[in-house]
Amino acid sequence: MTASTHTQSAALPRVVLAKGREKSLLRRHPWVFSGAVARLEGKARSGETVDIVDHQGKWLARGAWSPASQIRARVWTFDAAEAIDTAFFIRRLERAQQWRNELAERDNLNSYRLIAGESDGLPGVTIDRFGPFLVLQLLSAGAEYQRAALLSALQTLYPDSSIYDRSDVAVRKKEGLELTHGPVCGELPPDLLPIEEHGMQLLVDIRHGHKTGYYLDQRDSRYATRRYVTNRRVLNCFSYTGGFAVSALMGSCSQVISVDTSQEALDIARQNVELNGLDLQKAQFVRDDVFKLLRKYRDDGEKFDVIIMDPPKFVENKGQLAGACRGYKDINMLAIQLLNPGGTLLTFSCSGLMTSDLFQKIVADAALDAGRDIQLIEQFRQAADHPVIASYPEGLYLKGFACRIM
Ligand code: SAH
Repeated sequence: MTASTHTQSAALPRVVLAKGREKSLLRRHPWVFSGAVARLEGKARSGETVDIVDHQGKWLARGAWSPASQIRARVWTFDAAEAIDTAFFIRRLERAQQWRNELAERDNLNSYRLIAGESDGLPGVTIDRFGPFLVLQLLSAGAEYQRAALLSALQTLYPDSSIYDRSDVAVRKKEGLELTHGPVCGELPPDLLPIEEHGMQLLVDIRHGHKTGYYLDQRDSRYATRRYVTNRRVLNCFSYTGGFAVSALMGSCSQVISVDTSQEALDIARQNVELNGLDLQKAQFVRDDVFKLLRKYRDDGEKFDVIIMDPPKFVENKGQLAGACRGYKDINMLAIQLLNPGGTLLTFSCSGLMTSDLFQKIVADAALDAGRDIQLIEQFRQAADHPVIASYPEGLYLKGFACRIM
């Protein structure tokens, strides 16, 4: 450490780790759990920047203090010379934007995840671009504490973009934060904003939609669906605003039934089919609980050629994992039973705690219970604007398989 960095960091409160608990930071994992902290030296407010040192006082990282959370600190930087200020956020944003520019050009996108939290070096920060709008989600005490610096960086880099806050997510409570929601600067988003995705136009409700308005992470799986659906009857479970349905119609399916519990989502799904000039006669929208409807279809002897199974996150913590496994197995078993021989199951899990290996086992068990043999023919993951930094494998949360029913 140089003298100047020492001076700079001397002013910061210090989190001293317990002996032997520096290993994960040395591997550049960005979290410090409460059990690893021996003490806080000095006073730090929630979210304030702290230096993190080992039990002998050796500097390890600079991060945000989060006293209410089990993740007691999240690392902003492993560089002792780097201060956490507007310039820091500008550098992180510029670095993230470079890759998105390449991707946007390659795949002709005007909407993508610009900042994927930890994997873009900004723990607790999600920023999605939808055309001229940037939608912000601040999920941690540190991210909230830096709100002004981050916004100033965004306004410097994107003076023509409008910014909208969608930090109305329950995880903020774990960090001791209130939920916030509303315009930050520029124009108010329209009720429904059309975005481009692999030749489709899709309407996004930035203000009231799920998450930041749309599930950008499934872009590549939606596109891949087209390969499996030509002249086939498709059931699109957990459809939300119908991205998979539009893609299936673009792939010339014979019929697609979209199921969701949200009428608002289904209404947008219908508009999305119309917006793309696709045949509404081939599209049906059913408001129902997928768990119930699959049983009803089974009892009625309904059959499909392709089933898309893209449920919401079932697992928030390890205690819920066993129950979630049963839920995943149940819907996948029912889906396999409903598929004709030669049919395809496109099945996904966006629960971070569900590893790809475990999910594969669940799908295998579901096939066993359904009394059918299945082949795994393609594997999916979150789209490339949701990268996973190698030191933080937890960043890989979305996985899926295309399975052929034998
Ligand atoms: N496939 C979508 C994203 C799905 S998000 C896409 O590509 O955009 C999960 C969806 O499941 C949400 O729209 C939510 O309303 C719906 N949902 C949650 N529980 C449900 C249930 N039990 N039955 C039907 N839909 C459900």
